[in-house]
Amino acid sequence: MQFRDLKAQYAALKDEIDAGISSVIESSAFIMGKPVAELEEKLAERVGRKFCVACGNGTDALTLALMSWGVGAGDAVFTSDFTFFASSGSASVLGATPVFVDIDLNTFNISATALEAQIQKVIAEGKLTPKVVIAVDLFGQPANFDEIIPIAEKYGLKVLEDGAQGFGGNIRGKLACSFGDMSTTSFFPAKPLGCYGDGGAIFTDDESIAERLRSLRAQGKSPVDKYDNREIGMNSRLDTIQAAILLPKLKAFFDYELESVNRVAASYTAKLKDKFVVPTVLPGFYSSWAQYTILLENETKRNEAQKALKEQGIPSMIYYPRGLHQQEAYRSMALSDDAFPKTLEATKRCLSLPMHPYLEEADIEKICKVLCDL
Ligand SMILES: *Cc1c(COP(=O)(O)O)cnc(C)c1O
Repeated sequence: MQFRDLKAQYAALKDEIDAGISSVIESSAFIMGKPVAELEEKLAERVGRKFCVACGNGTDALTLALMSWGVGAGDAVFTSDFTFFASSGSASVLGATPVFVDIDLNTFNISATALEAQIQKVIAEGKLTPKVVIAVDLFGQPANFDEIIPIAEKYGLKVLEDGAQGFGGNIRGKLACSFGDMSTTSFFPAKPLGCYGDGGAIFTDDESIAERLRSLRAQGKSPVDKYDNREIGMNSRLDTIQAAILLPKLKAFFDYELESVNRVAASYTAKLKDKFVVPTVLPGFYSSWAQYTILLENETKRNEAQKALKEQGIPSMIYYPRGLHQQEAYRSMALSDDAFPKTLEATKRCLSLPMHPYLEEADIEKICKVLCDL
C-alpha cells in the first residue's frame, strides 16, 4: 500500500501527461515556455484571484511574497507552530523574525486567540514591527480566515495564506489561495496538486505586486530590459515541463480527484469516529485532504498504532513530530514550550493515514480494522 499513490494517478492520466512532456521537449522552450503562462492563467481563474505567478517551489513562493512586501530585519512574521518548516523559514531567510503561534487542536490550524496574544506580546516588547501573519491551510483545510483577517486588520498586519497543503479547499465556496492579501501554494509531488518535481505559485489581486513578483523570480530584472536588474531577486521559475504536467492534472483535480479524496475521508471518519479523535472540518469549510490525521490517546498509543499498521504493510506518518519552536535552527531564540500546549499535544498524539484520490475502499477497511483492533 502507498501513503500517497502517485503511480495510480499517472496511470489514469498517462497519455495526456506524456504528450505534454513530449511537446515541451520538441519545442525546446524549457524556460518560461507557453504552458507556464497558460497554467498561471488557469490557476488564477480557478482560485478566483486576478494574478498567478508561478515559481520554483512553495518555499520560494512564500519568500517571494514576503520580498514583494519588503519584509526583512526588524519585522515580526507570525505563523503557526505546527506546520512544515518553510512557513517560518521563508521569513527567516529574509532576516525577519518568525513569531510562533499555537494551534486549535480540533483543526490543527493557527489559533486566532493565540495569534492576538502573540501580536500583543510583540507590541508590548517593542523590539519588532508586526508585519505579516502567514496562515497555513494545514492538512487541506483552510485556516480560519473568518477569525484571522479581522485580527490582522485590527493590528495592521498583512495576511499571507500558505496554501501549500490547502489547494482545492474552500470556505463557503471561496477557494483556498484566494484568502488574505496574498496566497501561495506548492506543487511538490505529494501535495494536493503536485507535479513531477518542484514547483510553486503565488496568487494576488494587486497588479503592481504581480509585476514585482515576476521580476523578483527572475533576479529582479527590469520588465523592459532583461539585463538591467532593478533590485535583488531570486532565480525561481516553474519549469515548462512541470507546467505541462500540471495542466492535465489540474483538470483531473477539479473534475474528480477532489471529490474522491472527500469520499475517502468520509469513509475513514465513519469507521474511526467511535474509537479515535477524527479530523474536524468546520461548518462551511471544505478540505482537500492533503493529510487525514487522527489523534490517539497519548504518545505510547500513537506509536503502538503506527507499529501495528507497519506490521500489516500499511505506511503512516507523524506530521509533525515537533513544533517549529522546537527546531534546532531556532534554538537560539530559547522559546519555552509553555506557549504551545496544543502543538505539543498534537506532536505526541497525531498520526496521518494513507490518503489519496485512488485509495480503494478495501484498503480503507484494512487500515481501519488494524486500528480498531488495537
Ligand atoms: C510543502 C510545504 C511548503 C513548501 O513547499 P515546497 O514546494 O516543498 O518548497 C510550505 N508550506 C507548507 C505548509 C508545506 O506543507
